[in-house]
Amino acid sequence: MNPCFVGVDFGKTNVRFGVAEDEPVLACYTKQPYTRGTPAEIMRQIIDGLDRALSKAGGSRNTLRGIGISVPAVVDRETGVIAWGPDWDFMAGASLTQPIAEHYGIPVVADVDTVIPTWGENWAGIGRTCKRFAVLAWGTGLGAGLVIDGEVQEYPNNLFPEFGHSRVSDDDWPCKCGAIGCVDTMVCGGGIAKHGRLAVETGEQTVLRELCGGDPETVTSHMVFDAADRGDAVAQAILDRIAVLLGRLCANVVLTMQPEKIVFVGGLAKRSPRLLAKINATMNEGCWLLQKGLTGCEVVCSELGDRAGVLGAIRRVQMKLENRSG
Ligand SMILES: [Zn+2]
Repeated sequence: MNPCFVGVDFGKTNVRFGVAEDEPVLACYTKQPYTRGTPAEIMRQIIDGLDRALSKAGGSRNTLRGIGISVPAVVDRETGVIAWGPDWDFMAGASLTQPIAEHYGIPVVADVDTVIPTWGENWAGIGRTCKRFAVLAWGTGLGAGLVIDGEVQEYPNNLFPEFGHSRVSDDDWPCKCGAIGCVDTMVCGGGIAKHGRLAVETGEQTVLRELCGGDPETVTSHMVFDAADRGDAVAQAILDRIAVLLGRLCANVVLTMQPEKIVFVGGLAKRSPRLLAKINATMNEGCWLLQKGLTGCEVVCSELGDRAGVLGAIRRVQMKLENRSG
């Protein structure tokens, strides 16, 4: 194998590994659950998974040039130290990159799981035809990344766009950020499940009752999507509401930065196609720039699927090695 790079992408329960050479073609892609534990235990899981993926791709430590890591947490881009993450407090204060860099003797970079997939989209996805776009990472939370003039935007203080914590409805559901009614808490995995649970608890006629075995506490977001796919009117109304809230958010994104595209990535993105028409219609209704034809924007689903994170992590470390950023 020629010189290669590895991307590591941590989700809430799984970690993905991808191996590529200079081009955005994965020679190997794997996905497995990981166990939360001490920093040393996380390092061991990274090294084990990385060595397996590298060997499966036909590569070796001799051909490995750099490693990129995507995490659901705020990371110091210089030191790799985890600052904060709602599910990653067990790693707070520990560097994710230094022990891995010492082990392999090569550069390692890490960044948050909203900016890293934006690098992936810019390299291998929508960025091939579009130079100004926003990425919305939609799953257990709603993160964002921006590309302007073909460049991924990196904000000061290791931060990133936080569209997900803006408010687009009168609902007063508490959000994990401490505010109330954030779009993040309304439209993500837990929020969609909560809409479904409330429907069952209030006695609405819905197949969700059957899908959750009569226990509203066990309703998941995917059950709501499955019920809607089966023609359930209650589940369809929930998803219509989600689409309206997402459409209002997208209108705000257009008002803020006038992207040509808004791309959904993340765990719920693959379920977004049924919502796209309503999201686009709501965005258009809510944005005078679009109404007057002064700018144009379309909301689309990523074509990279689960792979945007590992591709972005690979691209991020390639760019570090080229000294073009970071
Ligand atoms: Zn919030």
